[in-house]
This record gives sequence, C-alpha cells and structure tokens, in this order.
Amino acid sequence: MSAYKVIDHVYDVVVVGAGGSGLRATMGAAEKGLKTACVTKVFPTRSHTVAAQGGIAASLGNMGPDHWTWHMYDTVKGSDWLGDQDAIEYLCREAPAAVYELEHAGLPFSRTDEGKIYQRAFGGMTQNMGEGPAAQRTCAAADRTGHAMLHTLYQQSLKYDADFFIEYFALDLIMEDGVCRGLVALNMDDGSIHRYRAQAVVLATGGYGRCYFSATSAHTCTGDGNAMVLRAGLPLQDMEFVQFHPTGIYGAGVLITEGARGEGGYLTNASGERFMERYAPSAKDLASRDVVSRSMAMEIREGRGVGEHKDHIFLHLDHIDPKILHERLPGISETAKIFAGVDLTRQPIPVTPTVHYNMGGIPTNYHGEVVTLKDGEPDSVVPGLFAVGEAACVSVHGANRLGSNSLIDLVVFGRAAGLRLAEVIKPGANQAQLGKDAAELALARLDKFRHAEGSLPTAQIREEMQRTMQADCAVFRTERTLAEGVEKIDAVYRKMADVRVSDRSLIWNSDLVETLELDNMLGQAAVTMHCAANRKESRGAHMHEDFPNRDDKNWMKHTIAWFDGWGGKGGGVKIDYRPVHAYTLTDEIDYIKPKARVY
Ligand SMILES: Cc1cc2nc3c(=O)[nH]c(=O)nc-3n(C[C@H](O)[C@H](O)[C@H](O)COP(=O)(O)OP(=O)(O)OC[C@H]3O[C@@H](n4cnc5c(N)ncnc54)[C@H](O)[C@@H]3O)c2cc1C
Repeated sequence: MSAYKVIDHVYDVVVVGAGGSGLRATMGAAEKGLKTACVTKVFPTRSHTVAAQGGIAASLGNMGPDHWTWHMYDTVKGSDWLGDQDAIEYLCREAPAAVYELEHAGLPFSRTDEGKIYQRAFGGMTQNMGEGPAAQRTCAAADRTGHAMLHTLYQQSLKYDADFFIEYFALDLIMEDGVCRGLVALNMDDGSIHRYRAQAVVLATGGYGRCYFSATSAHTCTGDGNAMVLRAGLPLQDMEFVQFHPTGIYGAGVLITEGARGEGGYLTNASGERFMERYAPSAKDLASRDVVSRSMAMEIREGRGVGEHKDHIFLHLDHIDPKILHERLPGISETAKIFAGVDLTRQPIPVTPTVHYNMGGIPTNYHGEVVTLKDGEPDSVVPGLFAVGEAACVSVHGANRLGSNSLIDLVVFGRAAGLRLAEVIKPGANQAQLGKDAAELALARLDKFRHAEGSLPTAQIREEMQRTMQADCAVFRTERTLAEGVEKIDAVYRKMADVRVSDRSLIWNSDLVETLELDNMLGQAAVTMHCAANRKESRGAHMHEDFPNRDDKNWMKHTIAWFDGWGGKGGGVKIDYRPVHAYTLTDEIDYIKPKARVY
C-alpha cells in the first residue's frame, strides 16, 4: 500500500459532514477551545440541508398558543411510540432557544406583521396535547429555509478556529479495542490519504436515500457514515423505517408539492383510471401521504403502473385552467418542465412514491454519543464516537418523522454534541500513537476497488440495487415482497465481487468514489431489507400488509442490526433489539402512553 501518500493530522475532534448538523457540531466544539477539523466530501453549502424548503419546528407561539410539551406530544405520536421520550423532551424543550440562536446568527426568517418569526402549519403539529386545532409551529424563511440555515451556519462556523477539509472523502473510522481513535480520508483533488488521530469523531454524514431508485435527496446522500459504523462492527438502528412522499418526479425524484393535488390534481394508472377513488372513497387524491403512497405502490406492484417498466403513475394537472396553474403553482410548472420535460398544462407528470428521509441510523443518546448493546447493556457508550443529524437515530423520530422536525434535530443535537465533547475531552490532551497499520483497512478497500477488473460497471449494480429497494422494500410491504427482496438484495451485493472500475487514477476519480459509495449503500440496503423482513407488525412508515396492526406487546423496541457481508459476500445481517426509552428526562412531563394513532 506504500503507493499512497499518507499525511498525518492530530485533532481533538474530527467532524465528518458539513450539513446543518455537522456545521453546528463543528462550531460547538471549536467554541469550547477544542482543536476541530471538519471533513466534507462536498463544499459545505452544497450539503443536502440546502434543499430543505418547508421549515424548522419550534414552539415559539408567534402565531397562536403553543408549548414545548405540545410539540413533544405530537412528536411522540408521530413516531408511533418508537421514539425515545427522554430525547424527544430534550429536542422540544431546546427547540425555541435553538431557533433564536439561528435568528441572532443572521438567519433571514420570514416575518409576521409585528416583526416576529413567521410560522406555518405542518402535518401532525397540533395544540393542546393532540386535542386542539393545528399549531403553527414551523418557522420558515419563505420556501428556502434549509438554504438560509446552511448559509448562516457556514458563515458562523468560519468565525471559529476550525479547519475545513473540503472535497475530502472519508473512507473509514480508525477503531482500536472498541474505541474510536480517528479517521482515514481521501483528498479527491490529488489522491493523497489523510489520517486523522482524534479524541473523538462526530459522524454527520446525512441519510442514505440514494439506495432507492427515486429519492428527493441529493446524489451525495449515500449514508457513508452509517456504512463506516457497520464496518467498525457496530450496529445501525431502526433501518426499516424509510419515509416516502407520494409525488416525486419519476427518475429525477424532485418533489412536486402536495399543493398540486390541493388545486385539483389527481393520479391515474396505466388504464387512465383514477384509482384513489377505490382506496380512499371520500378523501381520494387528498388522503394522507402514507395512504396515497401505499395505493400507488399497490397499483405498480399489480402491473398497472405506467411507462416502459410499468413503475410509475401519472399526476394530472392538465384539466386545470392554465391561468390558475400559472398563478398558484408557478414553481411546480417550472419543475415539471425542467425535470420531467412536460408542459403540465397539456401533459401528466410522471410521479412515484419517493424516498424522502431515513428515520433509522446510528444509535445515539441525547448527547450525540454513539451507543450499542454490549454485555447485555443496551445503552453502552462507544468511546470516542458521536453521530448527529439524519445519520443518527437518537431516536426522536421513531417510526415516522414529522415534517420540519429534522432541521430542528440538526441544530439541537449538533449543539448537544458540542456541549458533551467539551465535557469529556480535554483540549490538546496527549493521544497515544496509532498502530502502524491504522490506515491499512481503509487503504486495502480503496485499493481493491481502484483496481477492480470485473465485468459489471458500478452504474449497473447501483441501478439493480435501487430497483430492488424500490420494488421490494417500498411503502407497502408483504411477507412475499420482503422475502423476495432479501434474496435479491443479497444477490445484488454478491455482484460487487465482479465490479469494474475503469479509471485507475487518483485525481478526481469519480468512478472510484461512486463505487465506494455504492459499496456503502449496499450494506445499508441489505440491513434495511433484512430489518423490514424481520419486523412483523405495521408501525409508522413500516406498513406490513400481512401484519397490518401495531403490536406494542412484541414490537415496541428498536431494531439494531450488524452487517458482515462486505467484500461481495452479501447476507450476514445479525439482528437484536434495544428497549425504547419509556421515560422522560424531567418530571415536568409524564411518559406519554401509547394509544391508537388517528389523525
Ligand atoms: C428535498 C428535501 C426537502 C426537505 N425539507 C425539509 C424541511 O423543510 N424541514 C425539515 O425539517 N427537513 C427537511 N428535509 C430533511 C432535512 O433537510 C435533512 O434530513 C437534513 O438536512 C440532513 O442534514 P445533515 O446535517 O444530517 O446532513 P446533510 O445536509 O445531508 O449533509 C451531509 C454532509 O456529510 C458529508 N459527507 C457525507 N459522506 C461523506 C464522506 N464519505 N466523506 C466526507 N463527507 C461526507 C457531506 O459532504 C455533507 O456535508 C428535507 C429533505 C429533502 C431531501
């Protein structure tokens, strides 16, 4: 492996990722005098956080009565009682301060007439512990809240003394005796290898939506941090819970707002039938997201999808007066033209239920410390390892996330991680030398793929993975589709033994990087599929047709899963459980008891 130029660094803290959560953790650590590096594969302001539109939830009460306990109730209910209530209490209690912090840092929120932060209503957000009307709780900067937030955080982070390693691709954690000691990364610009020795590593690498054929997330959302955790021999949690939005543009995955159906849009199948009338006779196309997504998946699975692969559905707006479309849905008209090439005043938009968010990820406590099940202890902290943001599973979203609860999760737990790091780490403390071969595992994997001389291009295996996940681990799951999916995804993974990388260089080798990302995704796809096949109930986003009810007696528990199928082996998913935290953080609120989830 001597062919690689290895450059060593020593830091107190290395954060991987510069989205909302990574930047907030970087700021928090640097502010406390910890020598901090932030390693990111894309320029910070290109992180997927930039694409968030709707807003960020906090019970400011600017537009009507609100209270953090109401936000907590809604979040627990939204999670279908799989969320940890101590962590949810922490999130909702800290949320208003976190939003004011962003405001003071310069985030250009939209304003009410009195100059307060503007807040809009969002799904599942209510007043008075679920008893009252909708709560206007979602703080917004027009329809570009994530953009405003990410730019604000990046600007702020530059004022602290943190070092940024931009367009560096993190390969693997350095683990020694169950302790995280650092990180190995590839500088994509010149091919140099960077070995970071650190007292702690914070993974803020975002979700893994790109395991699916159609996702609203950026192409960079490949869950690299999750995969590093799996390779470190640690488990991921609740990976079977994947959130879908009904109307993403087929292929591109770009979102078409629910407002399109609000203006009279409707869905049709291959025979032109308005099938929602069968599934939801009164609400029809305006039934809730999970119902609509499930119905669309059913049509596709039963062969009534449209297009060459019969794998999508049409969304019609062409019966609506073009003047109204122009007035009320100008953004959608433009999106449909650019990403689907259709003039929606004349043609239907091809749409498909689109992966939107990963509830599962790296299990942590509410300080951001990574936890695992060890010697019978379910909350055993992994020394030196933290995770925040969509990569983490704290778990505040449980089986289903409420809209606008992710952006607040990023800043609340990004900050919490900074606070904890300052407690457990002494700035500049002496760190033992790393073992001589500390970078060997990462380099061997890099080298293997760089010289991979098989017969299958990366893009082909990736598409097989994405189609398998889209077809068999979808919105709507059955024993049959899941059993088939488990077999198929394991077979797809075995094809990695025959992958071909054609570019051997180390200067901006996107072929190689995409192959590393694919390998990362395949591990997560396998875990997701196996965990979905394992959970014999329906809860939140996991809708299992053969087990249509929630089963609290047997299944109110977090799935944790290890993966040992790397290197083209496939399979090798081991499953166990951690209990849900059925207690709150303080006695200011009691444990919210489970009940039927109806809206
Ligand atoms: C279209 C869209 C709209 C959304 N709208 C909303 C909304 O209105 N409200 C809401 O609350 N939520 C929304 N969400 C969800 C929310 O935006 C995301 O969950 C959140 O932004 C994720 O932030 P993050 O900090 O975890 O990671 P990201 O913002 O995804 O950033 C990941 C970071 O990790 C880095 N990284 C990853 N892998 C590596 C590697 N191998 N090496 C080095 N660096 C790496 C990347 O460079 C990047 O900086 C939306 C999501 C999408 C996709």
